[in-house]
Amino acid sequence: MRISNFGAVPRTKTRADRCPVHGEFDRTLVEAFEGDNRVIGCPRCRFDAIHGQDSAERTEAVESKRWETQNAALFATGIALRFRGCSLENYRTPLDGQKLALDTCRAYVDQFEESFAAGRCLLLMGNFGTGKTHLGCSILKAVVTRYGATALYVPAADIIGALKASFGRDAASSEREIFAELAGVDLLLIDELGAQGGTEFERQSLHQIIDTRYRNMLPTIITSNLPSTELAAYIGDRALDRLRENGGQAVAFDWDSARGGDQ
Ligand SMILES: [Zn+2]
Repeated sequence: MRISNFGAVPRTKTRADRCPVHGEFDRTLVEAFEGDNRVIGCPRCRFDAIHGQDSAERTEAVESKRWETQNAALFATGIALRFRGCSLENYRTPLDGQKLALDTCRAYVDQFEESFAAGRCLLLMGNFGTGKTHLGCSILKAVVTRYGATALYVPAADIIGALKASFGRDAASSEREIFAELAGVDLLLIDELGAQGGTEFERQSLHQIIDTRYRNMLPTIITSNLPSTELAAYIGDRALDRLRENGGQAVAFDWDSARGGDQ
């Protein structure tokens, strides 16, 4: 299995157990992305139940397998612990701008099959602390759980950090592998683009990721605290045009930072 540079896997704890039918197996406690951790019992019993006749056991086994697959896909997004609980449902909207931002993000999810086919991007732009990351992560979670899409959340600074680390002699991943991972997921969220200053290397690297995904018609969501003129200067007019093509919307988060709120 290839190790992801940005995704995660659930932690597990196993202990030896014995099934009356199948003998020894590892009983596994799996960390839940959200909610309660779960125990996975004898895997062969579950397999048999899934492929057996309709029964309560079968329903339970199918649900257990579905949970395990979806839980792993949610961890694979790399969404940081702080943002795991974010959802479209728990985004607070006392202001009209917040309602509009939520509606736009919800529509993006509802129309994801169409957006995905068109490679339609989304720009969430505005001040720190206005909920851009909350909504961005909510979209990722929703497309993973509703559509079975693959998604990845990566702060722009982490992309640059991983690329720089790849130049080391003992690097775990090559630059090429990092680009391949970022270019390979159905939906990529690059968080806080422009927050880290911006050397030529940084700008070019981020531009290259946006450009590669554009050519492969894969959607990208960007959050940035830069005003649009500065964003254009940061990633280049062409990259910005690409993010806006095919109905790619820019949502302005132009209210003050929510006190004690999410990013
Ligand atoms: Zn068994």
